[in-house]
Amino acid sequence: MTESTVFKGIGISNGKVRGRIKFYNKEVRAQPSSVKGNKKQELERLDRARKMASEHIKALEKRALSTLGEKEAQIFEIHAMLLEDEDFISSIIGEINGGKSAEEAINITAKSYGEMLAALGDEYLAARQTDIHDISAQLIRFLGGDVSVNKEKDTKPYILVATDLTPSETVQLEASKILGFVTFGGTPSSHTAILARAMGIPALVGTGKIDSIYDGEEALLNAEKGTLTVTPDEKEIQAFEKERQEYNKIAKEHELYLRSVMNKPAVTRSGHKIMIYANIGSESEVASAISNGAEGIGLLRSEFLYLSKDDYPSQEELFSVYRDIAIKMQGKRVIVRTLDIGADKQIPYFDIPKEENPSLGYRAIRICLDRQELFKTQLKAILRASKFGRISIMLPMVVSADEVKQSKALLEECKAELLTRGEGFDSKIELGVMIETPAAAIMSEVIAKEVDFFSVGTNDLTQYTLAADRQNPRVTHICDNNAEPVMRLIKMATDAIHRKGGWIGVCGEMAADLGLTQQFATIGVDELSVSVPYLLGVRGKVSECR
Ligand code: PEP
Ligand code: MG
Repeated sequence: MTESTVFKGIGISNGKVRGRIKFYNKEVRAQPSSVKGNKKQELERLDRARKMASEHIKALEKRALSTLGEKEAQIFEIHAMLLEDEDFISSIIGEINGGKSAEEAINITAKSYGEMLAALGDEYLAARQTDIHDISAQLIRFLGGDVSVNKEKDTKPYILVATDLTPSETVQLEASKILGFVTFGGTPSSHTAILARAMGIPALVGTGKIDSIYDGEEALLNAEKGTLTVTPDEKEIQAFEKERQEYNKIAKEHELYLRSVMNKPAVTRSGHKIMIYANIGSESEVASAISNGAEGIGLLRSEFLYLSKDDYPSQEELFSVYRDIAIKMQGKRVIVRTLDIGADKQIPYFDIPKEENPSLGYRAIRICLDRQELFKTQLKAILRASKFGRISIMLPMVVSADEVKQSKALLEECKAELLTRGEGFDSKIELGVMIETPAAAIMSEVIAKEVDFFSVGTNDLTQYTLAADRQNPRVTHICDNNAEPVMRLIKMATDAIHRKGGWIGVCGEMAADLGLTQQFATIGVDELSVSVPYLLGVRGKVSECR
């Protein structure tokens, strides 16, 4: 491959990296990589590749068992079974006997098997297509004899390329191995993008399909320009390296500036104080939140504790995580957002039936008010942890004061149950509501009477106000170019909660948009909560505001 290919997407974080591409879900390479031999030779090559692939799978299974767990390791058992599947293998052999190279024979067989599985209309079997593609790609790689290259690829950090990643896949990635992220689909406010941003690595979404033929090739990822240059030529590499050096120099200077604002209070020139809080999804982010000057945790996306498991976490497990975060934050506010599952955050063990419009469906507070035991387990864990610091509770996806009242009744039940068991908690624990539906903003005057604070989830508030799916790259421009209606709703909610003596924050991705900081200050927002890498930038910007 000599010519470079440039893929264009939307840069969702900053930075420039150079490295090898690794596909998350390997598809079969489109082109056979070897010269066709005679039938006997091809059959021998196939046999060797099968043995090597089998060894490789055993090693992967062992690793998955020790690092991920039994359930995750099962996938490799399926791959091992496929390698032994008589129909699959004899179909490949048949193609070789018909005159095809081993690679072509695997490609043809994988394609026809994939189509056959898809046609059966069974969701489980259709999902096995990925396994067929995965195992076929491995066979082809071992036919190429590039095992050592692959070993090297696996140990060195790489640029991860994926069709799409679900939030649960993203949380299980080994962050230290990933130089950058590229997904064919996705949008800036999808949860995968939010996680990538929190990891502080360059990332690109919405590139459209990238052929898996590029797996293992060198690439240049430029998140500022929104480009991925695959198999770059010498000239492109030199230009990129020059830009990268300049970028790193500016980034270093910027870092110095950011460090200088670290201990300055975030107060506008007219004296309006804005609290700068961090959005986190796990305990592991607390240390960096503190070292970047977070005055509190404005959004703990508690569902990520559920996403990384394969069964419901117990009250004890939840309690110990909330308690540890509260202790580490040393009396600073920690806002635990109760479970926001559903829409793009699906968890298999929740068994949520498939829905036509999941983001308009069974999610967040709707699930919690329906599955009350699940909700109460979480509420009790939060209450118990509240003794160890300053914890607040926040309810997601609220559309009415009635949902808040129902939640408060359950919270009271939890408090009473804990008291009878002699368990203590902060009796003055604050309760807040996310303003992330137009209904909540419109009814904010009424809802404000029920709570201590609001926090605006602009990601969802934008999608519901503009009727533009946050997961759909085709309508990203609508979300990006129409802040005005969302700002008007934020103003409405701000005035309502202030009249009642409460406070309001913004915790959606808009809070990190420095082009909007002045508007938030003018509206009178009291807190901005952003991913850790954006904390200092927002702090600096607030002090420049009027
Ligand atoms: C939001 O909707 O803006 C928000 C903060 O919640 P999430 O992104 O987790 O849906
Ligand atoms: Mg939301």
